[in-house]
Amino acid sequence: MAGAPVESRKSKVESRKPTCSGSHGWLAFNFQFSIFSIFNFQLMCSAALLCAILILSLGSGLSKLGRLFGYSPEQDDVNGPVAAMWQATPIHWRINPSVRTNVHTTGGDTVGAAVGKAFSTWQSSQVNGQTLTNVSFTKDANTSLTDPDFTNCLNTVSFVPSSAVAFPTGTIAFADIATDSGTPPTTYDCTQNGVTTTHTCNLESCIVDADIVLNPSVDFSTTTPPVAGDFDVQATATHEIGHFLGLDHSGIANAIMYPFGDTVSAGASRVLAIDDAVGVAFLYPSNNFASATGTISGQVTLSGSGAFAAHVIAIDAASGNAVVDGLTDTSGNYSLVGVPPGSYNVLALPLAGIYDLSHFGGWYCGFSPNSPPCCDPADNTCTGTQIPDPTNYTGKFF
Ligand SMILES: [Zn+2]
Repeated sequence: MAGAPVESRKSKVESRKPTCSGSHGWLAFNFQFSIFSIFNFQLMCSAALLCAILILSLGSGLSKLGRLFGYSPEQDDVNGPVAAMWQATPIHWRINPSVRTNVHTTGGDTVGAAVGKAFSTWQSSQVNGQTLTNVSFTKDANTSLTDPDFTNCLNTVSFVPSSAVAFPTGTIAFADIATDSGTPPTTYDCTQNGVTTTHTCNLESCIVDADIVLNPSVDFSTTTPPVAGDFDVQATATHEIGHFLGLDHSGIANAIMYPFGDTVSAGASRVLAIDDAVGVAFLYPSNNFASATGTISGQVTLSGSGAFAAHVIAIDAASGNAVVDGLTDTSGNYSLVGVPPGSYNVLALPLAGIYDLSHFGGWYCGFSPNSPPCCDPADNTCTGTQIPDPTNYTGKFF
């Protein structure tokens, strides 16, 4: 077989519970600590001024800032963890336009048009009216591929997966992300029609293939508003494209990257929240991203020790709206990058309620010391602790 071996490549299937073996410290205290603290930060800057980095350190200083930002990027557990991203744009995608009877398009867009709008939403994203993102897409010719294949480097969207593609109960859709990671440069192979080509990744972690599959057992529609009881194709695709780009979930309920979807008569939101827009801008920044935004950093401690996976939220002091959020790293540190100018309260909470760390799969995998990368949930030899699904939520996750 031509080309160098693929190193550290993994397939991360979202919404399938990681079942890593070994123990995880966060499991022990995740629901035991009860920090509820509000700190006030003044973050004022203009495009002409670099914002100061504000640091709140209740502990012993910030020797290591976690790769933790005002959203939750996918994390690879190499030299890091580090965020995974595409190294070049435009990013190509293609769709299998076939649908089954679970997809209702009468009076609405074709699925190709709806998914195209979802890609455009990310490409044209803005933060408070400013374009801070430099990412673009190219739609290639339609494909007849039905199932995810992380070896072909073709980024496909399919509504017609074969029975070989398993959807855990309650899953609306998932994005299958393959990364190539290691000390750059690394190489990875792509095989199409039996021909293998070798490519170079010049980042610590490149996304090299991303496939999106919508659950054929779930009803979808493309109309505005959606057919009653259906999930909205465009909203669902927008969420999965966030994963496609390298974003993990957000804990902010109005963010596209919130891990739960719902069927609501008015239709799920198809637009990005600030947290989503900041996330994509961090990964794919325009030239003015750094000067137009600031950073809020700090450490959350519990009884003098850093608290891992505390949910930290910057709340606009004027409006009361949650703007960006993130999780603390294993030392309790957080760094909310890309915060728009303003005055903020910072809220630190335990990860609790309808979501837990399992809904931030990249974080779970990236910080797991025992299983780099996470066990494939299909791996029957993996006997780690299962994280239960949320029990007090009637919607579905994706
Ligand atoms: Zn998701």
